Amino acid sequence: MAIYLNGQFMPIEDAKISVLDRGFIFGDGVYEVIPVYSRSAFRLEEHLRRLQHSLDGIKLANPHSRAEWAAIINQLIERNTGEDQYLYLHITRGVAKRDHAFPKPPVAPTVFMMSSPLPTPPDNLLRSGIACITAQDNRWLRCDIKSIALLPNVLLRQMAVEADCTETILIRREPGTGGEFLTEGAASNIFVVKNGILLAPPKDNLMLPGITYDVILEIAATNNIPHEVRRIAVAEVHAADELLLTSSTKEVLAITQLDGKPVGGGKPGAMFAKLHKLYQDFKRDVMRSR
Ligand code: PMP
Repeated sequence: MAIYLNGQFMPIEDAKISVLDRGFIFGDGVYEVIPVYSRSAFRLEEHLRRLQHSLDGIKLANPHSRAEWAAIINQLIERNTGEDQYLYLHITRGVAKRDHAFPKPPVAPTVFMMSSPLPTPPDNLLRSGIACITAQDNRWLRCDIKSIALLPNVLLRQMAVEADCTETILIRREPGTGGEFLTEGAASNIFVVKNGILLAPPKDNLMLPGITYDVILEIAATNNIPHEVRRIAVAEVHAADELLLTSSTKEVLAITQLDGKPVGGGKPGAMFAKLHKLYQDFKRDVMRSR
């Protein structure tokens, strides 16, 4: 497996970074996960735009132009086998003496990228759907930044694993009113379906703006699927006809069990079937137009 580190391609075994790297010491960095279908990066512009948003959020200059990123990404795809891959792209504030404050320039950021095989979700998962739990969203207030400091997400996701579930759905409590509403999953976005309407939480500082989330809303708009983007109360999550999970690696999955209880009929529903098919068509059309 060839990886990219600071201007060079090499086998992963040869990749070395300093223990003083601020990513290692502070989690001071951001990342992206970009799916590759038929050896072509999916929604590259959108991923690079979100990367820029994350970099701006941590006041780190983008080390590469759009064209440079595209060149590095295409070379990495070429140097790895597999039609479908997922690229992990990671930028930190570089190597400096340990001090919370930003190091004085010039400090080169660390840029790392690797490719892994991207299996599409297996048929049995598409047929059965997945089980999830809910938990309080105890993360910070800049969840729109794709930060490599993922300890809260790690702990929340582990809660699901320990409950024999796939994902933890996060519920944020509003200070003051005490109202509780849906934000997202520990590593995914969540949609609610009620009475044929697809409901999505709004993109704000409390959730990561998912690239798949955007694709799903685009598909809904072009296919006249009724949809609303608005705050979703926790009661609506528990009373949903269907719940859907999206991410670049999981695409769209039906959540058929929540906190040990069936969601709707306890089977993947009509909205899931429709969106899953439309998502596959969308992917195929995008790739065909390359
Ligand atoms: N929210 C969080 C917290 C995530 O980590 C992810 C990605 N794994 C998503 C949402 C989904 O984003 P995308 O569709 O871009 O993969």
